[in-house]
Amino acid sequence: MTAQANTRNAIPTVKLLIGGELVESTTREWRDVVNPATQEVLARVPFATVEEMNAAVASAKEAFKTWRKTPIGTRARIFLKYQQLIRENMKELAAILTAEQGKTLADAEGDVFRGLEVVEHAAGIGNLQLGELANNVAGGVDTYTLLQPLGVCAGITPFNFPAMIPLWMFPMAIATGNTFVLKPSEQDPMVTMRLAELALEAGIPAGVLNVVHGGAEAVNLICDHPDIKAVSFVGSTRVGTHVYNRASQAGKRVQCMMGAKNHAIILPDANKEQTLNNLAGAAFGAAGQRCMALSVAILVGEAQSWLPELAEKARSLKVNAGVEPGTDVGPLVSCSAFERVSGLIERGVGEGAELVLDGRNPEVPGYAKGNFVGPTIFSGVTPEMTIYKEEIFGPVLCVMAADSLDEAIELINANPNGNGTAIFTRSGAAARHFQEEIDVGQVGINVPIPVPVPMFSFTGSRGSKLGDLGPYGKQVVQFYTQTKTVTERWFDENEVGGPVNTTINL
Ligand code: NAD
Repeated sequence: MTAQANTRNAIPTVKLLIGGELVESTTREWRDVVNPATQEVLARVPFATVEEMNAAVASAKEAFKTWRKTPIGTRARIFLKYQQLIRENMKELAAILTAEQGKTLADAEGDVFRGLEVVEHAAGIGNLQLGELANNVAGGVDTYTLLQPLGVCAGITPFNFPAMIPLWMFPMAIATGNTFVLKPSEQDPMVTMRLAELALEAGIPAGVLNVVHGGAEAVNLICDHPDIKAVSFVGSTRVGTHVYNRASQAGKRVQCMMGAKNHAIILPDANKEQTLNNLAGAAFGAAGQRCMALSVAILVGEAQSWLPELAEKARSLKVNAGVEPGTDVGPLVSCSAFERVSGLIERGVGEGAELVLDGRNPEVPGYAKGNFVGPTIFSGVTPEMTIYKEEIFGPVLCVMAADSLDEAIELINANPNGNGTAIFTRSGAAARHFQEEIDVGQVGINVPIPVPVPMFSFTGSRGSKLGDLGPYGKQVVQFYTQTKTVTERWFDENEVGGPVNTTINL
């Protein structure tokens, strides 16, 4: 064996979770998990074989037989324990996440925390999965509903929130009585695996949660597998549309939360300092790799004169590795993401937008190989430009100008995406007009990234979403259960039967 092969063999491998066991894949297809600040290979992730994928689904199918009948209190207590374990291991989880994904440690803790909130919500399942009952819908007849689990459900998740988004999915699916097969992003599966280990430690029984790894083939197998009843997907619009079509065709319930282009409207009466801080944080935080990042700012009227101060704030953000104290903007997740974002900036310049702040090639001492792009601002952006039409998913803000609130609203409503939006103003009337007229699923009023807490659901709309029910919150209880309506009558022993009734009445 060569020295090089020896080194590669020393790199840890990411395991599969099948039937309650962490197993080494037998596949021949592997991919490196790479630290985006250093290019160090942290682990190798397998692309599971068809046999391994089928074994994961089979184990979930078998576990469903008993899990579906497990008492509410037993299910709830597992999630109570799970939330405690996540809290106790928060620092370790954040460190793994930063190493493989790049975001700052504080932001990584935020990623875990927003998922933890869903776990806490799942622990309240006793109050969430309630049916309805109507007494005496006819003489001596009652009608009630049962919200029953579907069976094996599956989740496919993106790279940008490798803790939060898996936690949007399996806790609620499992708490409602389903079993689960999760396929995390192959770019950063390590923190997801640590969360799966903690779920086992919390008492999730063997087979109830399974984790497989892979890319397009694994996803297609999930879409086609006859024993999988529902699929939750979060990721790009291109892949989400494919998953929605393919899995729906196979008769499954599907929900796909997809790409975005989120606009902020800045009215000249807004609190300037707060607004510019919020804008810079929401555009460049996590290196712009958030589906709710504000990537377009529409400056209305006199607010257009705020551009130099916005650029100043952006320029002051510190670009560095996520582990370094004081970092505001970490690296992009991969070399190919770096190439794509750099290419789009080049394209913006070529198509005539004004590059107010060029974040390319920032100096990051000690991390020369990192995928760093600093905060970048274009002004004079028009709807025809590629930088406006495409989701850049990097620290690039497109600034546009409008003469009125209505002109800005019209621009947003004409964009195909409907994930998130925000307005900054001191006028209640303007904010209310915006809230009424805007055709976007999640609206912030002086709140830059309005991701709903778990008693509500995530509600992206239009081009950012396929399927009618969102993840977590009330909507996902509907998504992960089948409503069964029971209409019942009990005869008294002494009741005398009437004649045969051939009408439709009860
Ligand atoms: P992606 O679509 O490339 O990957 C998502 C998942 O699909 C991964 O598990 C990946 O392995 C799989 N996949 C990739 N290519 C595939 C193919 N050809 N066929 C089948 N499966 C495939 O997304 P990403 O780059 O990991 O994540 C970024 C995207 O996710 C952005 O567009 C972002 O807006 C979106 N996102 C949306 C939300 C939301 O709630 N709307 C949240 C987070 C991220």
